Amino acid sequence: MNNSEDIKDKVIDGKSIADRVEKGVKEDVERFKKKYGCAPRLATILVGEHPPSKLYVRLKHWACKRVGIDSMNYKFDENVSEKEILSLIESLNEDDKVNGILVQMPLPPHIDALKVMGSVSPIKDVDGFHPLNMGRLMQGDESWLVPCTPKGVIEALNIYGIDVQGQYAVVVGHSNIVGKPMAAMFLNRNATVSVCHVYTKNLVDYTREADILVVATGVKGLIKKDMIKEDSIVFDVGITWEDGKVYGDVVFDDVVKRARLVSPVPGGVGPLTIAMLLTHTMKAAWKQKEREET
Ligand code: NAD
Repeated sequence: MNNSEDIKDKVIDGKSIADRVEKGVKEDVERFKKKYGCAPRLATILVGEHPPSKLYVRLKHWACKRVGIDSMNYKFDENVSEKEILSLIESLNEDDKVNGILVQMPLPPHIDALKVMGSVSPIKDVDGFHPLNMGRLMQGDESWLVPCTPKGVIEALNIYGIDVQGQYAVVVGHSNIVGKPMAAMFLNRNATVSVCHVYTKNLVDYTREADILVVATGVKGLIKKDMIKEDSIVFDVGITWEDGKVYGDVVFDDVVKRARLVSPVPGGVGPLTIAMLLTHTMKAAWKQKEREET
């Protein structure tokens, strides 16, 4: 086997996993349409002109289009008031034709992101950020809606047949949208978990012991080969944009020499996140219809 084949076997191909998930979602959308005579619908809310956020929202809408989910975007100027966003969410919560609501993060500082997350109806909360859904996750109940990015990591581990139980999982980054829910999902699967962040002393002492390492910091090239354990599994969630190019938190070419599996940026966790969003939109749509019928 030559070197490039060797590396290929170690790449967590998020794109091909996402393609597989999308195929299943497309069939699910067909079943939904046949039963209810309408397509499921996702509404997104985008505030400001942050180029990566605009791109992520566009990618989400393209993905919806590929599988047959209707989608609409509500775009606001950077200076929009919190009240206006909350009132839109209230009307989307009430709208029977809307099955999923996603508010693209980050929001400008004058808008309270936690308040916004808490205002989305838990049954339409396709990002899984509502305190009720987060609370369920913490209690070990993932049967409702959970955050898409960590769920994508779990999906990839399942597809690669990796049992998390008893493994040492280290999560670098403790955000509400990735780090914390990721740690909860590992705990729910009986891994031993450490969560590291910017104030962690001697980060390498943790990362070098990790059987599974998930890095979500937005610090380009934070993790190098000598910081990981031999044969470990590394997920790179981070995204840094520089001169129109995208970089991860992991020095892929270096780390891949020592790891068993590594997710690249781009093409790793990003497509998995979007695939999970599609499955969550369907989950929300079916649940709402079931609720209407009872
Ligand atoms: P965040 O930006 O809210 O916080 C960053 C986290 O990294 C914090 O916990 C901080 O303490 C930690 N951190 C910062 N510098 C560090 C250092 N030097 N050492 C250790 N920890 C450090 O977190 P977020 O919203 O989860 O985003 C993290 C990254 O993941 C960003 O680059 C974001 O764009 C990316 N992201 C990607 C996806 C995807 O789908 N691929 C989804 C969500 C977020």
